[in-house]
Amino acid sequence: MSDSPAIEGLRQALRRLPGVGPKTAQRMAFHLLERDRNGAQLIIEALRNALERVGRCQRCNNLSEQEICPLCSSPRRDTSILCVVESPADLMSLEQSAVYNGLYFVLMGHLSPLDGIGPDELGIPKLEALLDSGGIKEVILATNLTVEGEATAHYIGELARAHQFLVTRIAHGVPLGGELEYTDRGTLARALSGRREA
Ligand code: ZN
Repeated sequence: MSDSPAIEGLRQALRRLPGVGPKTAQRMAFHLLERDRNGAQLIIEALRNALERVGRCQRCNNLSEQEICPLCSSPRRDTSILCVVESPADLMSLEQSAVYNGLYFVLMGHLSPLDGIGPDELGIPKLEALLDSGGIKEVILATNLTVEGEATAHYIGELARAHQFLVTRIAHGVPLGGELEYTDRGTLARALSGRREA
């Protein structure tokens, strides 16, 4: 505990970041206050700017400064394939693997009934509306290869099959329990090009 309510408040705020425990939060707070006040100011401005400008793409849910993101509005993408991922970070990992040229849909995480996260919270109605909008032939299920990711893939697979889409699942190379965000580019590229009908 610090004697300063302001320092304590900063520590508590920093602890909201993923992977930051009490020790790390304290180190960050002291670092900014002792040694890098300019850096602290930069962080404030970057955060404010990002919060003001970045929202969700109305079509694919990806983080975007435009109502329709550059990926969705690009004339160079193959609009007949839709790749469903759990997060913007997963989308970015797949983009960096550079083998995929279709469109994406970003879920708001994965199904987790115990946490009260069901289809509505994931944005499934929006996904269904997108599938109904026409032009899509194949749906690639690129949720994580974790228990929750598999359950989510299963749910969306059933839904997409009911709408007569070809449904494929990435698998090859991504380790069981693997999260796409932490899988290397080459493995992701193989997982995508080696996808199988699900
Ligand atoms: Zn988009």
